[in-house]
Amino acid sequence: MADDQEHIVPGVRTRIMHGGHAPSAFHGFVNPPVVRASTVLFPDTQTMRGNGQKYRYGLRGTPTTDALEAMLSELEGAHNTVLVPSGLAAVTLPLLAFLSAGDHLLVVDSVYSPTRQFAGSVLKRMGVETEYFHPSIGAEGLARLMRPTTRVVFLEAPGSNTFEMLDVRAMSDVAHAGNAVVMMDNTWATPLFFRPLEHGVDLSIHALTKYPGGHSDLMLGSVSATQESFGRLRETQMAIGINGAPDDTYLVIRGLKTMAVRLEHHQRAALQLAEWLEGMPGVARVLHPALPGFDGHALWKRQFSGASGLFSIVLAGGGDTEAAAFLDALRIFGLGYSWGGFESLAVYCNLADRTVAKAPSEGPVIRLQIGLEDPEDLQRDLEAGLAAVTALRQA
Ligand SMILES: *Cc1c(COP(=O)(O)O)cnc(C)c1O
Repeated sequence: MADDQEHIVPGVRTRIMHGGHAPSAFHGFVNPPVVRASTVLFPDTQTMRGNGQKYRYGLRGTPTTDALEAMLSELEGAHNTVLVPSGLAAVTLPLLAFLSAGDHLLVVDSVYSPTRQFAGSVLKRMGVETEYFHPSIGAEGLARLMRPTTRVVFLEAPGSNTFEMLDVRAMSDVAHAGNAVVMMDNTWATPLFFRPLEHGVDLSIHALTKYPGGHSDLMLGSVSATQESFGRLRETQMAIGINGAPDDTYLVIRGLKTMAVRLEHHQRAALQLAEWLEGMPGVARVLHPALPGFDGHALWKRQFSGASGLFSIVLAGGGDTEAAAFLDALRIFGLGYSWGGFESLAVYCNLADRTVAKAPSEGPVIRLQIGLEDPEDLQRDLEAGLAAVTALRQA
């Protein structure tokens, strides 16, 4: 880089292409090596006893995990990042790191359902009390729920399946005023569309399984942290004994290189279909934060720089039978869990576990992941789904 350009911060796409790995550190190859490792050898006992050697044991990190950690830290604006074997482990690790018996945990009610299950089982057994708050509670409402024992405030925006938005900065400020740590599941937006640490969050969580992997062929998670919270996070990760496996870690490095271009398509196609669905009879509501008529739209617009390809529709009336008719008529959309891959998926959302944020009342909620297929084919497929519900009603 020329001297007169030194002050210019490269764009995010440039940083993804060139971050994490210096080719000169590995014979000039543009990609980092896939290092499969347990034992690392030391030249002598003095080196073994000291801290001078960078790599010491497979669990503790390799050039492969270092490369992905560095890329994600760069994207999140974080001090550092840890890798874990799934997105769910990226939720549970920081909770285990920061919570102790007697602590109080505040969680947004539209949280990813397995996060709730972890709180209700393992954390409960550990003596942690979890309380759920409505996503529209606002900062003052959150402040009223804070207790002297509140140690963690756990956010997710948009909410899983129903996409409620939060004012992340205002809520983080309330949490910090009460000395609580703020964690946010940022999987939907990816760090390309939202950087939680710039809005006061301490630990940003990702299911790398989704858009970063992008091809439905791996599972991995990450937690990116501020300098103040990173030490405790890494210490707990090592105490538990988990890290990213080399091949999955490498596949996420590979996936990140194309994530920005994939997301542009996911974003455009999803919004186009969401707008079309809004006008369709048989659809009561479309839950997509980038739609101007959506409740959380203003919050989304103020804080996020884009939308990914996952949203939901609420059918106009009906229940399990209507949802099944819609889903079984789809030919291109697959019926399956997870999202963020190249292929379109549809799933019937069970929202029965919500405590304060009730499920939409108009009809069943169906979540759609818009993949990289031709959008007009997806539209025809959704049309067939809606026609199957209409046919059922007329039968
Ligand atoms: C999928 C998902 C996870 C869990 O990721 P896995 O890799 O499937 O364990 C966590 N949070 C959110 C919001 C998710 O959508």
